[in-house]
Amino acid sequence: MTFSGFSGCDFHLEGYSLGGIETAIMVPQWKLALDLGRGRRPFIRCDHIALTHTHMDHAGGLAYVLSLRQLFRMKPPKVYVPSRSADSLRAMLDAWGPLQRHELVCDLVPVEPGERYELRKGLWLEPFRTRHVLPSVGYTVTRETEKLRPELADAPREEIVRLRESGAPVTRPIRDRLLSFTGDTLPEALDDDADWASARVVIHEATFLDDSKPYEACRAGGHTHLRDLMERAHLFTGDHVVLSHFSQVHRWRDIPGLLRPFAQQISGALYALPTIEAGEMVGPIE
Ligand SMILES: [Zn+2]
Ligand SMILES: [Zn+2]
Repeated sequence: MTFSGFSGCDFHLEGYSLGGIETAIMVPQWKLALDLGRGRRPFIRCDHIALTHTHMDHAGGLAYVLSLRQLFRMKPPKVYVPSRSADSLRAMLDAWGPLQRHELVCDLVPVEPGERYELRKGLWLEPFRTRHVLPSVGYTVTRETEKLRPELADAPREEIVRLRESGAPVTRPIRDRLLSFTGDTLPEALDDDADWASARVVIHEATFLDDSKPYEACRAGGHTHLRDLMERAHLFTGDHVVLSHFSQVHRWRDIPGLLRPFAQQISGALYALPTIEAGEMVGPIE
């Protein structure tokens, strides 16, 4: 498992991703998994499991993680999944009941873009629309805090107390987009609505980085090519961009060099998520 902290952020990422093989990312502070891969043991710590879609390399380990959590008498986790895949996923989990003679228990939450779910007080999970070859969503985590209304910034304390006691609103909610994760998607997800790309940390898939495979093959798989991101570099307005889900056609040691042109186009710092479990995050790429 890798570890990476980002300057200005009070959370870090663990996990790795190799296109078609396994994608599993975790934010330990929030007990949140963003896809689950094959269900490695560290992921049993996650009370919230957000699945972007149900391809095996992203969701294959779900039954195993649920079973391990029950073995260790942990509470059933919440499992978020695109709504159109929820019934099939439920049926798959139910099928394990007679096979292992105990039911797999979780709180399965069918999600739609535009909804939001509270992970803990003030911390929200918000699905956004992505475009893949089966039902899919990305997720943004936002923090909402109450801040004093700007027109009261210079008001004396007694005045603010008086207003509050009279029932007048003295604060307003401020939303801070902390992290966005696309899962697998065509680049048009950015054209639909790029608000999520302004998060402090954006993890975007970039399956193909050069011409080793035909560009059309990348699109047919529902994936993003680095050239698509180059065309949309101005949409990444956050502090940190992490690219992931690299195809096996790319050698790890070549990846920083392949990503350099994109690093030079974005305002934030660029990182590459490792492609193996024991790998380390690379970046910022200069
Ligand atoms: Zn994938
Ligand atoms: Zn996929």
